[in-house]
Amino acid sequence: MKIRTKIVLIFISVFVLLTISSGIFVSIFTTSSIRSQVYSYLYTNVESRAEHIRTFLNDEKTTGVVLAGASVYRDFLKESKTSSQYASIKEKINQRIKRTLDADSSIVKVFIIDKKGVIVASSNSLEEGKDYSNDVYFTEGKEHVYIKDMYMSPELQKVIYGISAPVLDDTGALLGISVVEYDPIDFYTIVKAVNGLGPTEESFLINKDKYFLTPSLFYGDSVILKMKNDTKNASDCFDPAQTQYVINSGYAKLRSVLGNKVFVESTDYRGVNIVGTHAYIPETGWCLITKLDKADVIQNSDTISLIFFLIFGGSFIVFAISLIFISRKATKPIQDLSEAMKSDRDEYFNIELSMDRKDEIGDLYRSFNKMIGSVKKSREEIEQKVAEQTQTIIEKQKDLEEQKNALINVLDDSKILVNDLAKFKLAVDNASDLILITDPDGIVLYANKAIEIITGFKEKDTIGKKAGTLWRLPMSKPFYEELWKTIKTEKRTYQGEIKNRKKNHEIYDSKISISPVLDENNEIKFFVGIQTDITHEKEIDRAKTEFVSLASHQLRTPLTSIKWYTEMLLSGDGGEMTPAQKNFVNEISDSNQRMVQLVNALLNVSRLDMGTFAVDPEPLDIVQVAEVVIREQEHSINGKSQKFTFTHSDNIPTISADKNLVRIILQNLLSNANKYTPKEGSITLSIEKIENDPKPHLLIQCIDTGCGIPEPQKNKIFQKLFRADNARTIDTEGTGLGLYIIKSILDETGGSVKFESAEGKGTTFTISIPLSGMPKKDGSKGLT
Ligand code: ADP
Repeated sequence: MKIRTKIVLIFISVFVLLTISSGIFVSIFTTSSIRSQVYSYLYTNVESRAEHIRTFLNDEKTTGVVLAGASVYRDFLKESKTSSQYASIKEKINQRIKRTLDADSSIVKVFIIDKKGVIVASSNSLEEGKDYSNDVYFTEGKEHVYIKDMYMSPELQKVIYGISAPVLDDTGALLGISVVEYDPIDFYTIVKAVNGLGPTEESFLINKDKYFLTPSLFYGDSVILKMKNDTKNASDCFDPAQTQYVINSGYAKLRSVLGNKVFVESTDYRGVNIVGTHAYIPETGWCLITKLDKADVIQNSDTISLIFFLIFGGSFIVFAISLIFISRKATKPIQDLSEAMKSDRDEYFNIELSMDRKDEIGDLYRSFNKMIGSVKKSREEIEQKVAEQTQTIIEKQKDLEEQKNALINVLDDSKILVNDLAKFKLAVDNASDLILITDPDGIVLYANKAIEIITGFKEKDTIGKKAGTLWRLPMSKPFYEELWKTIKTEKRTYQGEIKNRKKNHEIYDSKISISPVLDENNEIKFFVGIQTDITHEKEIDRAKTEFVSLASHQLRTPLTSIKWYTEMLLSGDGGEMTPAQKNFVNEISDSNQRMVQLVNALLNVSRLDMGTFAVDPEPLDIVQVAEVVIREQEHSINGKSQKFTFTHSDNIPTISADKNLVRIILQNLLSNANKYTPKEGSITLSIEKIENDPKPHLLIQCIDTGCGIPEPQKNKIFQKLFRADNARTIDTEGTGLGLYIIKSILDETGGSVKFESAEGKGTTFTISIPLSGMPKKDGSKGLT
């Protein structure tokens, strides 16, 4: 059961219990207080009414006494009927009786009885002479003022009562009786007056025989002197103890003496349950009864109870609503907390209960939030750890999967490979070049028979070993990086020449070609390497180079002699020559000059090839070198009316470089541009400093609008002695060595050369020389 429901139920039970007990208490209390209130009212009512009646009767008694004391009464009664005065006195008395009648409308009859008991004067003259000697008017009236009980007047045909008083002479002797009879209508009025205790409240008078003297509320006038009210109320009223007390002390302390005995709870003349009280009227011996139906009393208390229960009902509703509202409000935080606890796990951790409250709930919230915080934190940590571990497991699983797939692939591949290899082996086993197949890590899977011939190692010695570790000389780091970059990263074939070492430690030159074999996902499956032993070719090459070098050297001396002798002839040292002779000698001189250049070039090439050339760097202003070279070439450029431009940025620094080598490079570039650019074409030479580069350098560009290089021959352009077809037509005397020399120099000194060309449009040669300069190299000779 919810706390809220519990609180509501407990409060409502307590409320109902309290209300029922207080209701019972209230009802008992109200009933008894209403009863005592009713009693009080009844009693006060009866007492005051009785007093009223008594006063009224005493007033009437007084009237009787006053009348009886009137001198005219005395005179009349003293006078004898026979006296002469009698008639006038009689007249006077009649007048007086009439006045008395007229004075009070409730007086119905006035008459006088003489001392023998005979009516001697009356307002009803017919009654004169009537004997009343046995009547209580007479018998009692002789002695004192007497009130005669009500009776039915046969004469008036209505209930009346009367007061008789003795008429005495001066000595106190009885002369007669004065009687005044009244209509009791005024009693009815006094008695009937109600106090609003209830609709059944009534008061009435009874005489000592318990007959009604005044009308009953329920039966009206018919009960008067006809019906007895023989009830407990009546008998209590006539109880001698009570009557005696009233006679002696009046009503004043009656209630305090008799207590609730003055009240009666009994049945009335109708047999209905009543609550009543009474008052004895000593003057007449009557009893005044006032009563109320018990139902009226209960109804009064019922009304109060009803009001009480209405108030209770109202307050219960208000209380219940307030209780529900308050309990809801009071238990809301707990409910929130409980909802929070019940909510979805993830939401649950996101719950933040209001911390603003300053009460215990606030403390609870704060503790809860703190607890949630630490649970959340440890959960996050656990989740993170689980995630990490899951990730590791996933990765491991992935690895395993990959390994498995790889294994399957390898197995598959190896199956295929076994087949393929069989065919492959058959095809390549006996090839003269060394053919190797390695896995992506370079482990030898296959080597053909040539391995033994070329390296001296047997095939079985190499399988499962890292390719080349057995025979290859240690590679330089840049070479190694370049090799692996090409085959592994760029997945291209690498071609180059390296020096290897045979099993017997003999060094040999080899040309290698290593190609990656890719699978369908472009992943490397194998490397296929082909190695050709080029030691022999290299030796021939070297011999050629040496021969060229030797021949060039040998040629230089006669060429120099020819140069000098032709100079001498031309300058007339040999005597005056005819113009024809001069022409011939000029031809000899030009040819000799070209020969010198060719021999120089060949010498340079042989020095470069043999590695015997020296690099002698010095702080060099390349712009200056360029300007010198330009001046040398100016004649030829102008001869072809070519537009020449030289630009360079201002910040060209002095770099450490071999002046001669730079000059050779620039000379070759410019002379080529001049040669292969038609008349009036344009040539631009520019020098720039490029700092924003991993390798800061000087950038030298030679741009021409010449014949360009045919696309199919571009890849051969740096080869020794190579000349493009179009170049051969344009210039028949070229050597095909200039670009080879440029590239060799730059390769050796850390620079580079490249070109862009479009046939018939022009060529741009781009050279870069590192700002760090050329490294020094010792050699037997420099280049010329
Ligand atoms: P040579 O110029 O003596 O032939 P080089 O080695 O200097 O020898 O040049 C090799 C070849 O490169 C040339 O024969 C020519 O085909 C081509 N070449 C060089 N420079 C240019 C150029 N500026 N324009 C067109 N072709 C060129």
